[in-house]
Amino acid sequence: MIPDSVTQQIQQSLGSNIESSQSVSGGSINRAAKVTLSDGRTCFLKWNTTADPHMFEVEEKGLELLKSANTSLRVPDVFATGKTETDTGYLLQEFITEGRSEPTSAQEFGQALATMHQHHEDRYGLDHDNYIGKLPQSNDWHDNWIDFFVEERMQPQLKMATDAGKLGSSTVARFESMYKQLPDIFPEEPPSLLHGDLWGGNYFFDETGQATIYDPAVYYGHREIELAFTHLFGGFPRAFYDSYEEAYPLESGFSQRKDVYNLYPLLVHTNLFGGSYARQVEGIVKQF
Ligand code: ADP
Repeated sequence: MIPDSVTQQIQQSLGSNIESSQSVSGGSINRAAKVTLSDGRTCFLKWNTTADPHMFEVEEKGLELLKSANTSLRVPDVFATGKTETDTGYLLQEFITEGRSEPTSAQEFGQALATMHQHHEDRYGLDHDNYIGKLPQSNDWHDNWIDFFVEERMQPQLKMATDAGKLGSSTVARFESMYKQLPDIFPEEPPSLLHGDLWGGNYFFDETGQATIYDPAVYYGHREIELAFTHLFGGFPRAFYDSYEEAYPLESGFSQRKDVYNLYPLLVHTNLFGGSYARQVEGIVKQF
């Protein structure tokens, strides 16, 4: 099941053989396996034969950036990344065993995310583009959040959805009208280091109860977009939100603007999966 070309390349670059492997399910985009190397390391291997093979190199950069924030969030170490001559991209990282939440885990998770969000930049964006799922995510720098949100997050995804016939021109008109109202919706905040794809499937608690984050789509953005996304599909404990708020309080009215931030993941889901996500996008913008 692991393509031979990936096995060979890992053996060449690490000097260790893959001794055994076991498929891992749960990823929405890539194939994955737990592998044991001849040097004794247990690793988590992801690969993709159809997506841009450079996807994993930028995922590695994102993981490194999250790690460099030095919070108490656990971020897997990356051992190797690359692409084979058949254009299969792969990422070999430390295997982390999922455990369960200990009494203080959720609280520490909230505090740690607040600490990560207190890593600021002067501008919104990143020094490289990356991917959200398997779709390209552009991160050109902008001095203000609204320009970044509209030009880097809304417009590319909206264009993709309309080009594919998933959303129509009346929805585009609603978006245009919403853009004009954004100065009254978004509170001004400095750009924060974001995981960028923080839903319930991209974190777990390890065997010691430490929150572990992976599969990021990192950039410096408005921290509320990250928190809004945690609410979209759920899976984050109450204590996580309470301790986040205590460490780094939100401006009032966050719950009223949550849906506007979530237009981004909903547009991405419309483009990746279509169907009901397009209806949710229409439902949110029809109020504008
Ligand atoms: P995809 O890029 O396909 O969405 P993910 O990176 O989200 O894949 O990984 C899929 C699943 O594998 C996750 O939901 C998680 O349960 C598990 N996982 C992710 N990273 C690791 C890791 N380093 N060690 C062990 N399991 C992991």
